[in-house]
Amino acid sequence: MTAAADLAPSGDSLAAECGACRRCGLAETRQQVVVGRGNPNARLLLVGEAPGAEEEACGQPFVGRSGRLLEAMLAAAGLSSEQDLYIANVIKCRPPGNRKPSRAEIAACRPWLERQIALVRPQLVLLVGATALEALLGIRGGITRLRGQWLQLETSQGPDQLAPSQASQRQPTPSPRSPLRWPDQGEGGIALMPLLHPSYLLRNPSEAEGSPRWLTRADLVAVRDRLGRDPCLG
Ligand code: SF4
Repeated sequence: MTAAADLAPSGDSLAAECGACRRCGLAETRQQVVVGRGNPNARLLLVGEAPGAEEEACGQPFVGRSGRLLEAMLAAAGLSSEQDLYIANVIKCRPPGNRKPSRAEIAACRPWLERQIALVRPQLVLLVGATALEALLGIRGGITRLRGQWLQLETSQGPDQLAPSQASQRQPTPSPRSPLRWPDQGEGGIALMPLLHPSYLLRNPSEAEGSPRWLTRADLVAVRDRLGRDPCLG
């Protein structure tokens, strides 16, 4: 099955399987699952934390206040969320009260994210917020320090064999406990960039040089430039 077919919002594959999932307690309180949106054939995958109330209501990630800010910042950088990205979350069901998901919930939901990564086969991954950074690379804390830096994940050893502890990175070695499996992307590997979460940017509205928003805008321009520069990503 193609990525487009399996990730179709109204399709009866991944969305339906997630909708029937009861691997964690969030199934008890959800109204519906929120799987993903955007272009399933994009080379850029954006991974956030979990759906909030507005996302749950319409079944799409990043459509609430945080999502609208993210959309505006992507557009300002010349990136289209419909064409250039596929957008997903670590967690597919809304945690009550928009609390941070637990480690057990992240672990329970990880197979769905692995399925999405395997279907999209991204070459660039944006880790939006601390939860995505921890869930995908096992790095706890450090989002402020790591944001805007490219982390290179070598995948030449083949699919289902690479743990992030084997990643080649310029910055801290991820915890070896992180079990996320990545599809093989050939010699190019997968480049990941942590970004500040737009909910944090909503709480920090300054646009002054050096502010969180200013830094994030610069980070997204760097992402756009890499997409345009690398012929494999164009
Ligand atoms: S959050 Fe993930 S693991 Fe938990 S019930 Fe929803 S889809 Fe299943």
